[in-house]
Amino acid sequence: MGAENTANLMEDFTSAGRGNGKNPGGMVRAFCKKHRICVSCRHRWTERGTTRCGRCNRVHAQYQKSLLRRNYERDVKAGICVRCHKRPATPTNKRCQKCQDRHASQKRLSKRGSLPRSPQPVGEGKGS
Ligand SMILES: [Zn+2]
Ligand SMILES: [Zn+2]
Repeated sequence: MGAENTANLMEDFTSAGRGNGKNPGGMVRAFCKKHRICVSCRHRWTERGTTRCGRCNRVHAQYQKSLLRRNYERDVKAGICVRCHKRPATPTNKRCQKCQDRHASQKRLSKRGSLPRSPQPVGEGKGS
């Protein structure tokens, strides 16, 4: 196991793939997946079960998180349901009525079993 080994593979790939590259991006991805090279940096081996190395997986997770958070805040500001991002939220909640109903039924279910995640306080009384 060495980080340098990917360089040889990539050299192979670039010389072989020249000429018929209609979709080079997709080909590189497929190549990396096949040889377990990180599709993001292409310098390290992938983590087991993923298409990225440990470092890129972490960066990607952070990025996804910030993206989610941004979406959440944007939806709250726009008065859109933070769950489905489609229907307008109700004035008393950050979710639309439909998602609230679903959430309520999930709450009822989780009372019997274990909670899938820690409950978050819902901001109430704002903008009333
Ligand atoms: Zn990487
Ligand atoms: Zn909704």
